[in-house]
Amino acid sequence: MVVRMNARSPNPDAPLVDPFGRAIRYVRVSVTDRCDYRCVYCMSEDMNFLPKRDVLSLEELDRLCSTFVRLGARKLRITGGEPLVRRNVMSLFHALKRHLASGALDEVTLTTNGSQLARYAQELADCGVRRVNVSLDTLDPDKFRAVTRWGDHAAVMKGIDAAVAAGLNIKINAVALKGFNDAEARALVDWAHGRGFDLTFIEVMPLGAMEEDRADQFMPLTELRRGLEQSLSLTPSTYATGGPARYFDVRETGGRLGFITPLTHNFCESCNRVRVTCTGTLYMCLGQEDAADLREPLRRSESDEPLIAAIRTAILRKPKGHDFVIARAAKPAVERHMSATGG
Ligand code: SAM
Ligand code: SF4
Repeated sequence: MVVRMNARSPNPDAPLVDPFGRAIRYVRVSVTDRCDYRCVYCMSEDMNFLPKRDVLSLEELDRLCSTFVRLGARKLRITGGEPLVRRNVMSLFHALKRHLASGALDEVTLTTNGSQLARYAQELADCGVRRVNVSLDTLDPDKFRAVTRWGDHAAVMKGIDAAVAAGLNIKINAVALKGFNDAEARALVDWAHGRGFDLTFIEVMPLGAMEEDRADQFMPLTELRRGLEQSLSLTPSTYATGGPARYFDVRETGGRLGFITPLTHNFCESCNRVRVTCTGTLYMCLGQEDAADLREPLRRSESDEPLIAAIRTAILRKPKGHDFVIARAAKPAVERHMSATGG
């Protein structure tokens, strides 16, 4: 019933609701598949990147984002690849500011590896960005270089300092990797909470082919949490973002700790989000192959109506959930890398 009403709604601006009654309020938009790092769990060392003509222009990305806002999205997250390596990316943030000013949008946020933050933090704040997620898996510069293949830890630290100085709230995301940063988990908690940042651990997901076997990387967060609870008291927090993280308050640090556990506990029932790649491909679920091409309707007409029709049709195919499995020598759940879909 919900399906039909949504599909044939006479109101072009009617909000997006999927077949399971979930309203789509959150859109994550990848603005590039390129990155200045090659994290071992995210990309292979010799990635092939998309030709420029396939990638939406910044004006097209603005039109796409604005159409989702028109259809009821309240939150946009700009991601990649590394969003801040896209040339002139700040023009997109400047353009999106109008939706924050009008009240149509609650938030524009960013997920970044932090390498370029020192340069852009103040301008992001000027564009109305209030929060950024910075990905940081280790505090050790040598290990940081190893996990990112060529990242510069000091540059990220400078970027974080600049973000603090610009008044941005920071959440640190760390992918839990067996034998790599599991022993460092407590140090990461102390560091992040000591600086007033939220910290979220993420289970590695089977996205895209890798040189390494995923089973060797996978660290169940149930185990990581048990380890932390040897020395920390975690109580479930009332804080919820509507997203996949489950939060805990940490008594000893006074900070908040999140766990994103797509493998050991999936979070699909409350999923209110979709993802769009930099080529305008809409993925209704991070862990499924089904997708819709939005670039063709976007480029076909100056009117937004074909684009809106394509989005509505796609949302009606949003699946109930994903079914990730990590097993030795298993194939990835989906062939595309996280950097392509947008993390
Ligand atoms: N380059 C930016 C960054 O690193 O924050 C944004 C894009 S990145 C793909 C977004 C997030 O996805 C990062 O926090 C990264 O650690 C995470 N990620 C990448 N590949 C992943 C995987 N296979 N499993 C879990 N998280 C992954
Ligand atoms: Fe780049 Fe982010 Fe992927 Fe690392 S996780 S390779 S920084 S896109």
